[in-house]
Amino acid sequence: MNEQNYSEFTGLELSPRKADYLKFILDKRGTVKTTEISSCLQVDPSTTSKTLTELATAGYLNHVLYRGVDLTEMGKAYAEFLVRRHRILSLLFTHYGFSTEEACAEVSRFEAFVSKDAVNKICNSMGHPMVGVCGEISHEKCIHEGHYH
Ligand SMILES: [Zn+2]
Ligand SMILES: [Zn+2]
Repeated sequence: MNEQNYSEFTGLELSPRKADYLKFILDKRGTVKTTEISSCLQVDPSTTSKTLTELATAGYLNHVLYRGVDLTEMGKAYAEFLVRRHRILSLLFTHYGFSTEEACAEVSRFEAFVSKDAVNKICNSMGHPMVGVCGEISHEKCIHEGHYH
């Protein structure tokens, strides 16, 4: 397993689809069945298992025999970044006239193309807000990444 250091990530490693898988698994907080992922994300089972295998090979997930998948430490840190990216960007949009729903929807269309560096800069300039428009924002990684404090 080629488990990379989280701090080496640019935030642009995963396709929007793969990012959805990680966020879904993070949200479940534990081992998730493959069938549950495929039905909730509305992807056919063979595509789901292929994608999960790719994510496992890249070090984001572990397969748990007979039970499904769970996040590796790196996968969890990465998924937390994905959530923070969504929440920081949607919070930013609400400062420019977007409603909560509009901000979430708009940001969902492009968030996968915003780098971790950009998110950290925005986060820092906003003073690391704790509450986003669709949930709490955790700053454990961005504050401790070194470049900004
Ligand atoms: Zn949202
Ligand atoms: Zn922050």
